[in-house]
Amino acid sequence: MTVDWTQRKSTEQLAQMAAGETVLIAGWVHRHRHHGGLVFFDVRDRSGVVQVVVRPDNRAFALAASLHPEWVVQVRAVVQHREKAAVNPKIATGHIELIPTELTVLAEALPPPVSPADEGEVDESLRLRHRYLDLRRPVMQRNLEIRHQALQTARRVLSEQGFWEVETPNLTRSTPEGARDFLVPSRLAKGRFYALPQSPQLFKQLLMVAGIERYFQVVHCFRDEDLRADRQLEFVQIDIEQSFVDRQDIMRLGEGLAVALAREVAGWAVPESFPRITYREAMDRYGSDHPDVRFGMPIVDLSERAADGCVPFLDQAVKAGERVVALHFPGSLSRKQVEELSQASAVDLAWLTVEEGQAKGSLGRFFDAESAQLWGAASGTLLIGHGVGDAFLQKVGALRLRLGREGDLIPSRRHEFVWVTDFPLLDWNAEDARWQAVHHPFTAPLDEDAPNIERHPAEVRSKQYDLVLDGHEVAGGSIRIHQREMQERIFAQIGLSAEEAAEKFQFLLEAFRYGAPPHGGIAFGFDRLVMLMAGMTTIREVIAFPLLSSGVDPLTGAPTAVAESQLRELGIAVRPPTAPGRGDLA
Ligand code: ASP
Repeated sequence: MTVDWTQRKSTEQLAQMAAGETVLIAGWVHRHRHHGGLVFFDVRDRSGVVQVVVRPDNRAFALAASLHPEWVVQVRAVVQHREKAAVNPKIATGHIELIPTELTVLAEALPPPVSPADEGEVDESLRLRHRYLDLRRPVMQRNLEIRHQALQTARRVLSEQGFWEVETPNLTRSTPEGARDFLVPSRLAKGRFYALPQSPQLFKQLLMVAGIERYFQVVHCFRDEDLRADRQLEFVQIDIEQSFVDRQDIMRLGEGLAVALAREVAGWAVPESFPRITYREAMDRYGSDHPDVRFGMPIVDLSERAADGCVPFLDQAVKAGERVVALHFPGSLSRKQVEELSQASAVDLAWLTVEEGQAKGSLGRFFDAESAQLWGAASGTLLIGHGVGDAFLQKVGALRLRLGREGDLIPSRRHEFVWVTDFPLLDWNAEDARWQAVHHPFTAPLDEDAPNIERHPAEVRSKQYDLVLDGHEVAGGSIRIHQREMQERIFAQIGLSAEEAAEKFQFLLEAFRYGAPPHGGIAFGFDRLVMLMAGMTTIREVIAFPLLSSGVDPLTGAPTAVAESQLRELGIAVRPPTAPGRGDLA
């Protein structure tokens, strides 16, 4: 007999039903148990679970007793309200149970190596090996639903503002994000390679030259970098570009999108617009260009105080051009704890506290209670370090984060966006002994700093802006250079000769000769944003089929060796591995 599947009820529908109604449901056996001579089993589908109860006098009893977890079943049943004591308030159908009139097994299943009903920790490579089972878990279904909603919201918000979704190619040439490229060998032109895009940066700028004015794309990008909790070789961006705009226009647009996602998808109360801090302030106060501003404990500069000579070695540090900075931890710390923090952070830490009216800690002997208070050690513990440059501040920033986490100072239910602006345009790459673009070489300098590009490159700030959420960079972009002359100055400054620039970006430079509008854009790291909105700690939890951090996919076995004949067709020979498991393409 054919089944009319349109009659199948979701758990939301079941929850609304009156006792005595007959229903059709289908799904997977979630949990199965014998209890007091009865058989209980929960049927799970995407919408949730519902409990089925089978008494010994039921015709379906024998079959119900023989079911196993993850078998696929179809049940016709009568809705019954549970007794008060048996109500389960945790699930939508917790007040009802189903009494089957007909039970059909649609598919049997092997005992699952990853149990969808189990909420405990399971080895991740096993989860990915059987991802189709792992994705049956309610938490994973919720993650994918959040991802879906975020995608739909982003598309709606951008479309409503006149942005067109335009697709750009995956088989292309190297793009300028500065990571290692994934190469795809060409069969038709042997010895030549496509590069998978690290971002659609060049194409979206070409679309502006093409007069598209407002572009966006949900796009896969590829960067051959080491994997981390919030990084995959392949990731998804919401990529945006717009013509005739300045920084505030793109930032407002980005804010609107972030607010819609946060409010509608994550259900967070966030303000209409976000605070802005400059890169310099972010480094000085938080030791990070993606600061977590959900808690205070900023880095305090004590260089001026230290220069008064009361602590000789700090005075010397200041005279030697170093900065003396402090973190004011609100709790007390033991000497051992400070030593451990000092070692882990690679910052030589001194400490000062006031106890029972006396200055204590490694600096205690230099202070009385009053002068210690002047330094800020009235309560809690002052941790003091000295050093130079942003690398030093980053170490202090990492220490701040660690103290924030371990001292329970971060309100985990609060969510805060912040813009970081005025990044340096260039930084010095000591390894290659050259200047390089901090964002990418198409980012425009601040107008007032542009005259300094050649003379004081380190001081030039750019029109880059990053959006940070709870200490994670979730979007970044810039106003672009649209004038050829400025573009050539930047190329020259980063040591890209006219020939090299032409060879890499000829098509863009040429396009700029045909009338380029002022333009700028931004890209949201979509996986990372969804991870945060879903309250997860790795992006793998919000990607249906991710790679392990080793770059391996345990499900498909990728990457795999290929047949000799395929290599021959491509004109490629593989060199013997130089390190275990690594092959170089010749
Ligand atoms: N293409 C840049 C990136 O992927 C974003 C942008 O500048 O729009 O980081």
